[in-house]
Amino acid sequence: MEVLRSAREIGLMRKAGLLVWEAHQLAASMLRPGVATAEIDAAVERFFAENGAEPLFKGVPGRVPFPAVTCVSINEEVVHGIPSQRRLQPGDILSIDTGCRLNGWCGDAAVTHPIGKVKPEVQRLLDVTRGVLDLAIEAMGRCSMWSEVATQMEAYVKDSGFSVVEAFVGHGIGREMHEDPQVPNFCSRQLRASGDFRLVPGLVIAVEPMVNMGTKRVRTLADHWTQATVDGLPSAHFEHTIAITKSGPYVLTAAPSENEP
Ligand code: MG
Repeated sequence: MEVLRSAREIGLMRKAGLLVWEAHQLAASMLRPGVATAEIDAAVERFFAENGAEPLFKGVPGRVPFPAVTCVSINEEVVHGIPSQRRLQPGDILSIDTGCRLNGWCGDAAVTHPIGKVKPEVQRLLDVTRGVLDLAIEAMGRCSMWSEVATQMEAYVKDSGFSVVEAFVGHGIGREMHEDPQVPNFCSRQLRASGDFRLVPGLVIAVEPMVNMGTKRVRTLADHWTQATVDGLPSAHFEHTIAITKSGPYVLTAAPSENEP
């Protein structure tokens, strides 16, 4: 079961979330054709260290522990890409996902960026994926159960002609990055039967839609981490850490004073 957080605890999580937002600003400032994704990762690692924050992704257990503080996923890569010497090209899209723990509290967010000019259909994929996250945040303010939000997210993506990844979902977040509940971006019988949860003040979740241009199916690459679309078509990913407060959804990883309660 999910744990509910006090207003004071949500205030502390906002500090972690703001640092994650700043890390994303730093990463975005470095984006240009020719930059290697490992350079971006190194800058974010330095930034967290300078601010007394613990990176959450480095060392996450797997066949090999995750080796970096960011996940960088390019084009057909969906999530969990490993930073490398690969250099960004004009027309690429790059998803950056990162999180930190500050004074014992976690924040987690992801953004997909166009590198230079991208094809109109790829830009539409980015717009729809950001749009479905915005829709989810707004719906969290008026729905009583997560399944209602998930149903609307799935319909929005399907109506746009794209597909929602089902192999990966969002999560509760607090002292740890991954806590209960699981937060799917689609509605399944399993969600209605046993996975649903109430949207009540004190709930804090990371909502992270992954949207594919083609098939929803993904596969794991040989590095044991990177998830890529089976059909090779592009994928986008946006994520925010969001608290429900008495005055509505509070995006803890948004820009300063964008939505302070
Ligand atoms: Mg996450």
